[in-house]
Amino acid sequence: MLLDNKIMYSALVEKDPSFEGVFIVGVKTTGIFCRPTCTARKPKVENVEYFSTTKEALDHGYRPCKVCRPMELYGETPAWIEDILKEIRTNSDTKLKDYDLRQRGIDPARIRRWFKKHHGITFQAYLRSLRINRAFGQIKHNRSVIDTALDNGYESLSGFHEAFKKTTGFAPSDSKTGSIITITRILTPLGPMFAGATEEGICLLEFTDRRMLETQIARLRKLLKAEFVSGDNVHFHELDKQLKEYFDKKRKTFDISLVVPGTKFQVNVWEKLQRIPYGKTRTYQQQAIEVGKPNAVRAVATANGDNRISIIIPCHRVIAKSGELAGYGGGLWRKQYLLDLESHAYGQ
Ligand SMILES: [Zn+2]
Repeated sequence: MLLDNKIMYSALVEKDPSFEGVFIVGVKTTGIFCRPTCTARKPKVENVEYFSTTKEALDHGYRPCKVCRPMELYGETPAWIEDILKEIRTNSDTKLKDYDLRQRGIDPARIRRWFKKHHGITFQAYLRSLRINRAFGQIKHNRSVIDTALDNGYESLSGFHEAFKKTTGFAPSDSKTGSIITITRILTPLGPMFAGATEEGICLLEFTDRRMLETQIARLRKLLKAEFVSGDNVHFHELDKQLKEYFDKKRKTFDISLVVPGTKFQVNVWEKLQRIPYGKTRTYQQQAIEVGKPNAVRAVATANGDNRISIIIPCHRVIAKSGELAGYGGGLWRKQYLLDLESHAYGQ
């Protein structure tokens, strides 16, 4: 399923990274296909055609561009990094200094660049995060602090204590009462998203390029009294699976535990949002009535905008009275895509 050609062409000219993974462009005059952000000179509007996957472009006889390498999926973890990550997951005290990386035939600078770009932190900080996240879970589930420190490759208890506190904001021994928000990236056809989860459920799902993201993260940190730490969480597997089914039009409702702290009014608005059926829309006015505050249209719209769990709490299903899309934190083109995906026009 594709977006409007005008939107795609302007994304192409702007080299807008939020469209990465969303479409692929074939250049008729050269027979080459590119990502939206390719730095090569942009073709004229009449010389391009669009595809949703690289496979389609190949099927139409196009060859991948050597500049932007469209066959490497944007945001997808490359195999050489996946191997390293697997090693870290199975062996919790793995230390990967530059020397160890070179031993494995990996250029440390390359892995640093990849992590900075895709996780916003350095590779070493990411490794630290994973270790602390795992240690937190172990102590929470009754392992002793000292055993946990040793298990995770810390040579001294004080070193562990310091690293743990720096990352989580509390001492290892307070893990029973303290909490953290595990964060990861999830790929979708609309671009990469940040997902956050506590032990109880998903508390954040937001496009990584969304302007509100920083604010939402700060709010969650305060509301849940928890720091964000990269790592793995059982809820991510279910989320990833159900999102894939949703985008494949094989799922209409989500069955995932959510953690949605907020004011009574916000919680009420978000709850009502979840009752709008798949494929249906509602106006802000209708939603205000539903919430029991017919005059609070603006407040309802604000609460919609404050929704931290995109797609699953379907704020994209609320539109203006005129039928126009009005606002969407993730960008109107994404709102349009989600509504089109859910509409009958696409052969449900
Ligand atoms: Zn290219």
